[in-house]
Amino acid sequence: MTNLDSHTPMMQQYLRLKAEHPEVLLFYRMGDFYELFFDDAKKAARLLDISLTKRGKSAGEPIPMAGVPYHAVEGYLAKLVNLGESVAICEQIGDPATSKGPVERKVVRIVTPGTVSDEALLPERQDNLVASIYVENGIYALALLDMTSGRFLINELPSRESLSAELQRAQPAELLYPEAFSEMELIEHYKGLRRRPIWEFELVTAINLLNRQFGTQDLKGFGVEKSIVALCAAGCVLQYAKETQRTALPHINSIHLIQNSDTILLDAATRRNLELTQNLAGGTDNTLAHVLDHCVTPMGSRLLKRWIHQPIRDVAKLKNRQQNIQTLLDHNLIDTLQPLLQQVGDMERILARVALRSARPRDLTRLRTALAQIPEIVNFTQNVTASLTQNINQIADFSDLHSLLERAIIDVPPQLVRDGGVIATGYNAELDEWRSLADGATQYLDDLEIREREATGIDTLKIGFNAVHGYYIQISKGQSDNAPIHYVRRQTLKNAERYIIPELKTYEDKVLKAKGASLALEKRLYEELFDQLLPRLGELQLASMILSELDVLTNLAERAESLNYVAPTFTANRTINIKQGRHPVVENVLKAPFIANPVFLNEQRHLLVVTGPNMGGKSTYMRQIALITLMAHIGSFVPAESAEIGIIDRIFTRIGASDDLASGRSTFMVEMTEMANILHQATANSLVLIDEIGRGTSTYDGLSLAWACAEWLAQKTRSLTLFATHYFELTSLPEQLKGVANVHLDAREHNDNIVFMHAVQDGAASKSYGLAVASLAGVPKQVVKLAKQKLATLEQISYQTADLGRNPQESLFEMIEPQEEIATVSPAIELLTEINPDDLTPKQALEILYKLKESL
Ligand code: ADP
Repeated sequence: MTNLDSHTPMMQQYLRLKAEHPEVLLFYRMGDFYELFFDDAKKAARLLDISLTKRGKSAGEPIPMAGVPYHAVEGYLAKLVNLGESVAICEQIGDPATSKGPVERKVVRIVTPGTVSDEALLPERQDNLVASIYVENGIYALALLDMTSGRFLINELPSRESLSAELQRAQPAELLYPEAFSEMELIEHYKGLRRRPIWEFELVTAINLLNRQFGTQDLKGFGVEKSIVALCAAGCVLQYAKETQRTALPHINSIHLIQNSDTILLDAATRRNLELTQNLAGGTDNTLAHVLDHCVTPMGSRLLKRWIHQPIRDVAKLKNRQQNIQTLLDHNLIDTLQPLLQQVGDMERILARVALRSARPRDLTRLRTALAQIPEIVNFTQNVTASLTQNINQIADFSDLHSLLERAIIDVPPQLVRDGGVIATGYNAELDEWRSLADGATQYLDDLEIREREATGIDTLKIGFNAVHGYYIQISKGQSDNAPIHYVRRQTLKNAERYIIPELKTYEDKVLKAKGASLALEKRLYEELFDQLLPRLGELQLASMILSELDVLTNLAERAESLNYVAPTFTANRTINIKQGRHPVVENVLKAPFIANPVFLNEQRHLLVVTGPNMGGKSTYMRQIALITLMAHIGSFVPAESAEIGIIDRIFTRIGASDDLASGRSTFMVEMTEMANILHQATANSLVLIDEIGRGTSTYDGLSLAWACAEWLAQKTRSLTLFATHYFELTSLPEQLKGVANVHLDAREHNDNIVFMHAVQDGAASKSYGLAVASLAGVPKQVVKLAKQKLATLEQISYQTADLGRNPQESLFEMIEPQEEIATVSPAIELLTEINPDDLTPKQALEILYKLKESL
């Protein structure tokens, strides 16, 4: 940096502050604006689409400058935070009247995407997390902090894949990583990446910091003392939170170690493929959450999404949730509780802002409303069933806090405490006194105006106020000649003159003093409210947790009733037995009736080869099985007539794949990477869905791979597997392997068209319906007709090739002759007329045969 002396004193101050925050945008408060300078200004102008100007000169150069008005700052912050940027807010903290040189300024907080708690800057129904990762000795550790609730989680994972899956689940808004991190490809696609110095991950520092935060001697009480790699990550994230918030964080009062064995693991691809909270196009329509989430509070919505992304294996807990849902249904409590819960609103995030002392007046009135609902909620849930009642009864009695807020804050307070008028009359005698003084003085001014008007006989005489000149007496130009001699002129306007008299000045002082005093007192009283609320923070947080869960359970009860779901049963066997199962999302968007389908998998029948025409419903069928299994493991009822579900440790899917353009991997590479992962990780208790493996390569390779994968899953991992394929050859697997069976989806041909039955049946599909689908898709009738003629001829040949392995060259010779008699349409058939089977290796010949078969 250039020598500071060459800059103006204000610029020197700016540059000193900026030097402490080189990596974030510095919003430097100047009067009614936050200004940005130099590179910050250029960047902000580009990101916020605001104009870039220049300010004077410093060190001989014009200074690039851009600014945003302070009263509109939230909108700009929201935009920047959304783009993954952080902003340091620098306020004037000195008094301009008494300062020599520039007013003292200080960075009061740093707004970052992962740590914001302002309501306006956050998506309401989505968690907002800051994450930190650390890798040591092959352990991939992750720490997650939710500033808006105080949730603090750590996790130690055995592989980069599992870390990647966890990150995909958490979708952190900000991701901290150590400067020496060597596997950037794992994280580089995340927004809000922050490189942190290595010492922030130091174990001893981390442990000290955590103990200080929780007020504990050691971390044994949380059961995390052995997870040392994760603690390193936790230390970094906590340090970051403290650095950005610059205030106490009393709501972060515990840390929790995620036990991977407690949950059903879902890898990143599976989360995507099953469209849990995000559809494949990146939106939220037609996702499981879209159907399941009608929660009436934002905190309930967030909790439900967390459940969906982290299905649990604890059957006792799941049964408890089911029972509570059943209780809510049996006692008709949904319509009673939902309006009350709606009034509870987002208590969780309000409490976080209380903890950070940044809660606004309306946060406190919303908290008041929330607390007012609790007695009623407790009342309605008494004497229903032990488990539900017990749960609710853990909520403490907050009547004192409620009445405090009733007394302290007016019904509908203004947005900000800054301008006063928040604290209710009668709450504090001194405040009332100052206020009545200010009001009384105002009354006096009204009286004075009438008196002066009468005394002077000037009917245009008015008393007014402006910020620069204070109180004045105004007389219109026409009548100003009649102004009494003791009126001292203050200001001349186009149509009026303004005067001051000593008496008015005295009252002005009185009003301003009273107003100033009442405002200052009001701010102090407001701060004191936090002091009174904070000792109860832990109890309030517990209440908000219980109410969030009640919202989710009530919502699941409502969904079960409206959508006709049943409670699944759990069994210790290796079984999935679903009668009349439906796809929760497809049945919701479909105009036509949805055809329910069963599935039965167990020890003796653990791999189903699923065949059937394109569009027949294979993917829908397979996904519905995964979704029903997952819903059962969040405690939800499921779309089926009945469902019996055994222990599941993981759900894997290999479904469709588009080119992963970002990473430059081909469809086939993506497919094989996912497949490799499944073959390595799946166990006998895993549910595996494979949809069309091998498409991305030549037929010969593809079939061989599909065959080998199916065999591995059937014999080696013995996972509960659904294997959809267009390689008809795979339907002969059940004859060769134990535990394998065929099911198919059916279609009927009707004239030139095809009707999909969407009903799953035992056995293999009998026919490819490619031509009918082509006609359905609008391929011209003549083309379809021609294709049919070919089909007839080729079927003749096809049957000769049934045993493809026999002698490919010979088969080709047999086919060439009849081929020449029919018109050529497909490139494969054209190819036939050009080749000499003698020149081919058996493999090449076989490839051509497959191509031919496919073109039939
Ligand atoms: P495939 O995977 O066999 O090509 P899909 O599962 O994609 O077929 O299903 C194609 C369409 O058929 C779906 O978009 C849906 O509209 C409809 N469909 C699938 N299954 C059913 C069903 N069980 N009942 C009614 N319609 C269904």
